[in-house]
Amino acid sequence: MRSFTYERAVAAQAAVAAAARDGAKFISGGTNLLDLMKLGIERPTHLVDISRLPLRDIEELPGGGLRIGAQAPNSDVAADIRVRTRYPVLTQALVSGASGQLRNKASTGGNLVQRTRCPYFYDTAAACNKREPGAGCAAIGGYNRTHAVLGAGSSCIATHPSDMAVALTALEAEIELLGPGASVRRVGIADFYRLPGDTPHIETVLRPAEMITSVLLPPPPPGRQLYRKVRDRASYEFALVSVAAVVSAGQGTIDSARVALGGVATVPWRAVEAEAALRGRPATTATYRAAAEAAMRDAVGQGHNDFKIELARRTLCRTLAQAAQPVRSG
Ligand SMILES: Cc1cc2nc3c(=O)[nH]c(=O)nc-3n(C[C@H](O)[C@H](O)[C@H](O)COP(=O)(O)OP(=O)(O)OC[C@H]3O[C@@H](n4cnc5c(N)ncnc54)[C@H](O)[C@@H]3O)c2cc1C
Ligand code: SF4
Repeated sequence: MRSFTYERAVAAQAAVAAAARDGAKFISGGTNLLDLMKLGIERPTHLVDISRLPLRDIEELPGGGLRIGAQAPNSDVAADIRVRTRYPVLTQALVSGASGQLRNKASTGGNLVQRTRCPYFYDTAAACNKREPGAGCAAIGGYNRTHAVLGAGSSCIATHPSDMAVALTALEAEIELLGPGASVRRVGIADFYRLPGDTPHIETVLRPAEMITSVLLPPPPPGRQLYRKVRDRASYEFALVSVAAVVSAGQGTIDSARVALGGVATVPWRAVEAEAALRGRPATTATYRAAAEAAMRDAVGQGHNDFKIELARRTLCRTLAQAAQPVRSG
């Protein structure tokens, strides 16, 4: 057993100061961190419990956006009437994740920073660059059915597990961070996650002791929002492929589209090539197929996960066809 110390933070700035201590880590709902500690994968020597900080509210922003506090539980965010009506893609993504009990406990901040579900990452007998930099990657050349086909490198091919982050990517959310010395900064979600490169153990741009305080949603983009998740079983399961789409189509033409993919990439993946193939094009099956082709053009399978490339194309086509239906008013 590894011993560690624990403190419950009562103020955000105090939490950040406490986390600056060597070996310290934040804990929110604990639904990921505690599992990793039990397995000896995460080994903090000091836990800073931020779950009681007054960061649970969901507030209106000037101009029509929303601020979601980092401690807002996933279930509260999904159920919020403003989220359900203005950002349905976010509600759909959240309720597709984990289970009711877990969503009650899981926080918005913790969901963003949860770690991969690569089975070799959890198996301390296996080589894993993410767990132990320089050790190698057992998934490359191993059993890699659930792994990434986009954004992978020669050091790591693990997928990012969060459904919520995929919806936030399509919504172009920003993440607000509080750092030592009361420094506050905002990072667009597209810049928050890092591709594995040579340092797959560094997954985000979070600086030491920096804490997520909120997620900022800009005013809802025009069009219909949809999240579709394909997985091995209907609940309590991570995505093999997921698609978050926001499509505005009028007079049979696609005016604007935002597309993000989950389950297929090392980070929540913005499919900009698909978006370019949709804009200004007729809302037809041929257009959706061209967009799906464009989205997966650079995909590289590792053997067992080759099926994800075609599965992603088909899931994208189907989601786009549904999202491009005219929005009925009244
Ligand atoms: C069985 C199971 C099934 C699941 N299925 C899904 C699924 O289908 N889809 C999905 O998206 N997720 C799924 N999850 C993951 C779940 O959503 C995450 O475990 C949860 O969101 C993490 O939130 P938490 O508050 O419990 O984080 P914690 O476990 O407390 O923390 C996780 C990490 O985030 C850091 N952290 C927490 N809060 C902050 C903050 N404010 N600022 C900076 N760092 C912070 C911690 O230091 C830690 O490193 C599943 C989990 C389980 C156990
Ligand atoms: S894919 Fe990444 S997380 Fe999985 S074993 Fe390889 S380095 Fe580790």
